[in-house]
Amino acid sequence: MKILITGGAGFIGSAVVRKAIADGHEVVNLDKLTYSANLENVAGVAASRAYAFEEADVADPRRVTDIFARHQPDAVMHLAAESHNDRAIEGPMEFVVSNVVGTAVLLEAARAYWNGLPAERKAGFRFHHVSTDEVFGALGEDGAFSEATPYDPNSPYSASKAGADHLVRAWGRTYGLPVVITNCANNYGPYQFPEKLIPTVISRAMEGKSIPIYGDGRQVRDWLHVDDHAEALLLVLTRGRLQETYCIGGTPNRRNLEIVQLLCAALDKYAPANTAHADKITFVADRPGHDFRYAIDASKLKAELGWQAKTSLEDGLDETVRWYVENKDWVQRIRDRGFHSERLGLVKA
Ligand code: NAD
Repeated sequence: MKILITGGAGFIGSAVVRKAIADGHEVVNLDKLTYSANLENVAGVAASRAYAFEEADVADPRRVTDIFARHQPDAVMHLAAESHNDRAIEGPMEFVVSNVVGTAVLLEAARAYWNGLPAERKAGFRFHHVSTDEVFGALGEDGAFSEATPYDPNSPYSASKAGADHLVRAWGRTYGLPVVITNCANNYGPYQFPEKLIPTVISRAMEGKSIPIYGDGRQVRDWLHVDDHAEALLLVLTRGRLQETYCIGGTPNRRNLEIVQLLCAALDKYAPANTAHADKITFVADRPGHDFRYAIDASKLKAELGWQAKTSLEDGLDETVRWYVENKDWVQRIRDRGFHSERLGLVKA
């Protein structure tokens, strides 16, 4: 299958690109190369004849239409998005433009292209939108998000993703475009941009700096290894039922503080310091609108497609810490590009 993957130079997109090519698919990677993109993440497949790259903005109708016409994909996996909650609070409009308008532009280009396909190719085409469980809002102490959970986004990021989800569903219902949506839990793993919780903790700890945790660290998350997510995505793309939504996640839930403690234990192993890393944990003011708990009920995905996460959190975090310790240069090159995060004090531009 030839898959047009948007956002394929980002954290999750690049894992999907690598896996799609390993599985024998052809990939066209459409990415605007924003601050969080990194073509190093796909360097291992860039020379493959099954891989093509297009630097483009999903919100640019002319470019997107032209890319459909030239590459003639069999499917779309839409991951391109502004993805960082803190940045959305500081500047929400970019999120609305890339995540909402960008999705609408991509849907319109896909619809025109799909309408023009010969019958046999038209029947096989699919548009897979990759979204987050944050669209469902926050949970209390009990329960889990499922495909039946009503939307209740609390932040500009999750609202922009919810808007995109609604557009995709509407294009399926109104125009019959063959769509499928996935809503996934928090991801972690190699190549995650250093502003997110897990790489921030690892990078700061390796430099002997304090390790910041929002609020009291009691927030509960469902963490999924990015390779488990990529596997689920390709399964849904190829075997999922059209016009359906699938929730992805379902790993045992952990408090942010427990995650950081597990990371500190792995850091003590791979990056020994003078003091135990856990002694460097500090609590910082909570983010406004910070949801207390997310958890996923992925039983539909398991029942229909037989998927469940393969990586235990302990093994996944251990492997992730080792990757960051062994790939310090990857983070350093991002810093050299001038990545700046005042709040995290990670680097000075
Ligand atoms: P990321 O920030 O690492 O990557 C996003 C990629 O999209 C970057 O390469 C960026 O250049 C590209 N992009 C952004 N705006 C674009 C535009 N207008 N046109 C073309 N390309 C553009 O993000 P990520 O963590 O890999 O997330 C990927 C997708 O998965 C997003 O849609 C996100 O909402 C979703 N998601 C993420 C998580 C998570 O835990 N990270 C969980 C569930 C769902």
